[in-house]
Amino acid sequence: MSDQGDRVETMGARLLDALGPIVGDRGGGLHEPVFGGNEREYLAECVDSGFVSSVGNFVTRFEGELARFVGSNNALAVVNGTSALHLALVALGVKPGDEVIVPALSFVATASAVALAGATPHFIDVSYETWGVSPEVLSAHVRDQLVWDGERITNPATGRPVTAVVPMHTLGFPLDGIGLRRVADNYGLILVEDAAEALGSYKEGVHAGLAGHASVFSFNGNKTITTGGGGAVVTQDSELASRLRHLATTAKVAHPYEFDHDDVGFNYRMPNINAALGLAQLEQLPDLIGKQRLLHEKYTGLLDQSDFWQMKHEMPGASSNYWLQAIELNQAYAGERDEILDACLESGVPVRPLWKPLNSLLPYKHSPSAPTPVAESLYSRVICLPSSASLV
Ligand SMILES: *Cc1c(COP(=O)(O)O)cnc(C)c1O
Repeated sequence: MSDQGDRVETMGARLLDALGPIVGDRGGGLHEPVFGGNEREYLAECVDSGFVSSVGNFVTRFEGELARFVGSNNALAVVNGTSALHLALVALGVKPGDEVIVPALSFVATASAVALAGATPHFIDVSYETWGVSPEVLSAHVRDQLVWDGERITNPATGRPVTAVVPMHTLGFPLDGIGLRRVADNYGLILVEDAAEALGSYKEGVHAGLAGHASVFSFNGNKTITTGGGGAVVTQDSELASRLRHLATTAKVAHPYEFDHDDVGFNYRMPNINAALGLAQLEQLPDLIGKQRLLHEKYTGLLDQSDFWQMKHEMPGASSNYWLQAIELNQAYAGERDEILDACLESGVPVRPLWKPLNSLLPYKHSPSAPTPVAESLYSRVICLPSSASLV
């Protein structure tokens, strides 16, 4: 019962009350872009130059600035994050018939990219601490459920080789990339980090995505910065970077006029017009991350002392970009999740659940999977809050 007479307060009403000071009646989307810099100028410059399509000055500048920001030797800008994952897996040698370890809790693209490469996603659980794959969960799974013959891993249930792992930095909370790389190296696994949500997130001062053989980012309209649609692959390995570039650019052999292609290539390079927008966004990235972190402090002030839910915070040693803010309902209120989502959406407050565990989706429900109780529990209890940088 609430203290306002005999009205029984619903959980949805409780959350709406708590969010009021930040969200008010602004409406809008879950995570909207902010265009507060040189966007118009660069877009006009791009149009005036006539080079709006693939490969141009802005692409080169965007790739250079992105590599510098994350601290990588190489960055390749591509059409979106899903194609970045697909390209990275293929360039690193993932083939039809392989199995690739993927967290059950992720946006669908992590699994789609594996399937598009002709391989089969092999799902494992995430940890309560990071909401992503931990080195401990990964190594225990390989040790206890798979067969390592000193050279390669086989899934005894299917007889297929397990050749790669794609951990994902959930909502921007950075994983222990170095620990994951150690496990991958122990077992000869390719490590591709899905850092699509983690631009500007650091673990022990190291940017998310630097530990993988290759890692990917997304610049979709709802991400921390946007290029309209876009993504990138980063890698410290310059030979791999050349191969990624070649495969992404139709595998064309350089020549003044001959159309000679020496492999099955993709047409995945980012157009210059998207890179123009992206360069302007990248210039504002430190400011945007500061705003997302401030928004987290504000939400924490309003939501942290509650009997009904807890705010999700970064772990010690981690610095999150807080791409999406989230609360975790206490177990006793898991059954209220949909009532809360409905109440907020009806009031114009954009909230979302986490993704349905991927091993329950139609295309993947027969894929190999470990038990995934943590992914299922988080899915049943987490609510993502309005997270636009413009809210602070
Ligand atoms: C956004 C996202 C992607 C890639 O998204 P695109 O929309 O293709 O740019 C991949 N993985 C995760 C976890 C994401 O959140």
